[in-house]
Amino acid sequence: MTSSAAGILGATIVTLGCATNPPKPAAPPQAAGPANPLLEPWTGPWGGVPPFGRFKVADLKPALDAAMAENLAEDDRIAKDPAAPTFDNTIAALERAGHALDRVTAVYEIYTSTMNDDEVQAIEREMAPKLAAFNDQIVQNKKLFERIAAVYEKRDGFDLNAEQKRLVWLDYTQFVRAGAKLDEAAKKQLSDLNQRLATLFTSFSQNVLEEGSQMVLLESEADLAGLPPALREAAASAAASRGKTGKWAVINTRSSVDPFLTWSTRRELREKVWRMFTTRGDHGDAHDNNRIIADILALRAQRAKLLGYPTHAHWRLEDSMAKTPERAMALLEAVWKPAVARVREEVADMQAIANAERAGIKIEPWDYRFYAEKVRKAKYDLDQNDVKPYLQLEKLREGMFWVAGELFGLQFKQITDGSIPVYHPDVRVWEVTDTSGKHAGLWFFDPYARPGKNSGAWMNEYRRQSRLEGEVPVIVSNNANFVKGKAGEPILISWDDARTLFHEFGHALHGLNSNVVYPSLAGTSVARDYVEFPSQLLERWVSTRPVLDRFALHYQTGQPVPAELVRKIEKSERFNQGFITVEYLASALIDMKLHLAGEAPIDARKFERETLASLGMPSEIVMRHRTAHFSHVFAGDGYSAGYYSYLWSDTLSADAWEAFLEAGGPYDKAVARRLRDNVFSAGNKVDPADGYRAFRGRDPGIAALMRKRGFPVPSDSAPPSSSAAGK
Ligand SMILES: [Zn+2]
Repeated sequence: MTSSAAGILGATIVTLGCATNPPKPAAPPQAAGPANPLLEPWTGPWGGVPPFGRFKVADLKPALDAAMAENLAEDDRIAKDPAAPTFDNTIAALERAGHALDRVTAVYEIYTSTMNDDEVQAIEREMAPKLAAFNDQIVQNKKLFERIAAVYEKRDGFDLNAEQKRLVWLDYTQFVRAGAKLDEAAKKQLSDLNQRLATLFTSFSQNVLEEGSQMVLLESEADLAGLPPALREAAASAAASRGKTGKWAVINTRSSVDPFLTWSTRRELREKVWRMFTTRGDHGDAHDNNRIIADILALRAQRAKLLGYPTHAHWRLEDSMAKTPERAMALLEAVWKPAVARVREEVADMQAIANAERAGIKIEPWDYRFYAEKVRKAKYDLDQNDVKPYLQLEKLREGMFWVAGELFGLQFKQITDGSIPVYHPDVRVWEVTDTSGKHAGLWFFDPYARPGKNSGAWMNEYRRQSRLEGEVPVIVSNNANFVKGKAGEPILISWDDARTLFHEFGHALHGLNSNVVYPSLAGTSVARDYVEFPSQLLERWVSTRPVLDRFALHYQTGQPVPAELVRKIEKSERFNQGFITVEYLASALIDMKLHLAGEAPIDARKFERETLASLGMPSEIVMRHRTAHFSHVFAGDGYSAGYYSYLWSDTLSADAWEAFLEAGGPYDKAVARRLRDNVFSAGNKVDPADGYRAFRGRDPGIAALMRKRGFPVPSDSAPPSSSAAGK
């Protein structure tokens, strides 16, 4: 996930996720105390690196307090400048401010997402509302806003280039959207709402984290029936690390649950595991999220009204590419019916297998993955276990690097001399250089699951690229939750995980290719429904021939994945798309409908049940994220009324992929260059609709998306977008 366009609103580092980790807003001063390593400029090569190993967790809070105070003072100086407002003394000056807070927030975000122990959680509970209040203090600085507005009004009178004009527009719009034009009483009310929301977001995500640590313990060999050896080993080490040596554990996270549901032949255990996973946050106990959700929705509705919007969804979508909830809903609904129709076919295929086996069952949600796997084998003669030996985590990582070289000319070299400190021994660092051999940034890789780490996979931007104050190279990270294997043994991953690996790397490349002057416009600081476009597009390269031939190597024989197997993989690309699309769409539709519902009190459980019934949700599928643990939406504002973004972006990525195919292939140099120049390097310095058009030569349409998923292409497949957030 991402922060909303950050920039002036203090430090908002970017976290792109795909399963987790909404951004934290950036908060009031206290005594700075003695020297705090987190406040010092980063030292070391390439503009400095985070000071891991040189601070204590207890330093986080005083550092945040001091950095917020410093940033408020900086902004105050800009606001009180006696000179008339200009681009340089106001807009650019804001870009030059807040660096200490950027640095501290980067570390804070790393700790709250990957090292979130009790101590960090306590800090987060205290700081979340303070950071929200801090953001409001900046937006509500009347003198500061007046200067921004003055520059905005006279923007055509200054000699500004396109990037500068866009920055002026973004700053002004962002202040207005955050309430800069409200009267004092309303501003106070808004700030109060934001702080209460920040506290609720923290409670929500800490509940989800807590529920994710539960497990189903498997007591005997018989409970392991159907599980492939690697999964048994992972379950054994998961149990051992939780004090249950000699047993096996299915942990309450997707990476542990999904494989179990796919392979276990013990139906009652599948049901037990499925129930554990899908009822997270919904047990009516101390970690139940339903009350929190109701409160969040009510506060969001109040806030939208205060800001002059009909609903939270209208407010959130205004600066997106879709612009209105209606247009986002139109896309979701266009895909819903064909996807549900496909689910009916998939279920029929599965039921037929169950009947042929005389299983005597009706397909239930805990059977879907299990029987889908059997269908895959029957229809495509493809067994995931045949593919997995070729999917070594580290080889695929090399494959990603190779793709980055082919498409963008980037080279990766691991730094092993300890010159770049890390926050955990599992984290590794690579230096990235461009075609000319020039330093382009650092890539941190944190691949393994551990307690205190958010589930899922995501990208994080520790420092954005910029050139305003000399070259500032980017620092990004990719995070995942692979189960760490035995020392020296390769980690084998699933085909889905291989795609996710490339997906997150796509976000990283979006950051690493960034070529802008102003930090607020860098890398992934683009509209929410555009930011998943580069990442979803990059997923496509994992299944290209050169990657499979050179990097999908058998972990024992070193042989490349056989052509026959590749053909089967290609043939089955559209397999199970009904399931994948419907479980996603159900979550996206619930998210949007919850945020269009207005101020009436909402019982999340009832709302979910009734909405799904009215949509005709197939009973064999559950939402990918049920409301009670829908972190995208309730652990922050980040993806609220924004889960649709993945489909919106996928419309673009499907269409963009066809640009390569039309030109002759995935490695076409001219198309890759256009992609880099107009998308991957452009950050937010151009309107995304314009950037896309410059890349593709036209607007995107829905046809490629429907082809990608194997659904019928509608005859009037109008483009999903005309123009994005204005100028
Ligand atoms: Zn993503």
